[in-house]
Amino acid sequence: EMNRGCPYSCLFCVNYGLNKLYKDAGGYYREKSIPVLIREMREKKERYGLQFAYLVAESFLTTSRERLQQFSTRYPAEVRLPFWIEARPESITAEKMRLLEDCGCEGISVGVESGDEGFRRTLLNRRMSNAKIVKAFEILARSRLRVSANNVIGFPTETRELIFETIELNRQLPGVAGVMCSLYNPYHGTRLREIAEERGYIDKDALAGDYRKESILRMEHLSHDELWGLQRTFPLYVKFPKSRWEEIRQAESLTPGGDKIYEELAEEYRQQFMK
Ligand code: SF4
Repeated sequence: EMNRGCPYSCLFCVNYGLNKLYKDAGGYYREKSIPVLIREMREKKERYGLQFAYLVAESFLTTSRERLQQFSTRYPAEVRLPFWIEARPESITAEKMRLLEDCGCEGISVGVESGDEGFRRTLLNRRMSNAKIVKAFEILARSRLRVSANNVIGFPTETRELIFETIELNRQLPGVAGVMCSLYNPYHGTRLREIAEERGYIDKDALAGDYRKESILRMEHLSHDELWGLQRTFPLYVKFPKSRWEEIRQAESLTPGGDKIYEELAEEYRQQFMK
């Protein structure tokens, strides 16, 4: 664990609630000092024979230049483990990528979340342009890092058309090995949960589900089945040419016929994009 919390407050994220809760106590976000991090990682590497590290920091690159430089000097000399990080698109620069490559960073997960700028700004409080997101992925595509793009669908009020805006944005991102798509869940303490309650999409005492496979919102314009179908076909829509979209649309259907088409397309996807 490198940091705890996040300096940002996206309205769907638990960090929104934590930042609000700790507002009068100096805030929730804190960064572990690099010497302590290095010491802990060396201990764990020796004790457990670690071969790979997932460095837990919600937005690894959103920190001071001095801290990154200290990390990049000490980590390769004292820990020397390949590692994976998470980052916000606007924190990605060519200089930081060179530094990460030199440290042994193997991969990076970047939050795209949603493809419509207005929706992203007003409903999610993520204030960055699509051009900025595309530019970040262009920088990553020129690096040696494996790249994963994280997306969420099924936000309150989100429509099928808006989900396709997210698909379209992902189609513009070069060099993405992992196209990830989660289902929105309304966590307590987040502003978006309040909006979901206000709109009657959930009951006040409803518990959030598993973002990998469940949506608990009741939205008349977007059923659970349609969302699950879109979630499973999301990477197919992103990676396959539009001439295949009619076929992919059939694979959304949660029926034996739809499942069969989905399995065939998924196998093709694995062969083509996951080797
Ligand atoms: S940047 Fe990521 S971790 Fe931070 S508040 Fe937004 S969604 Fe949460």
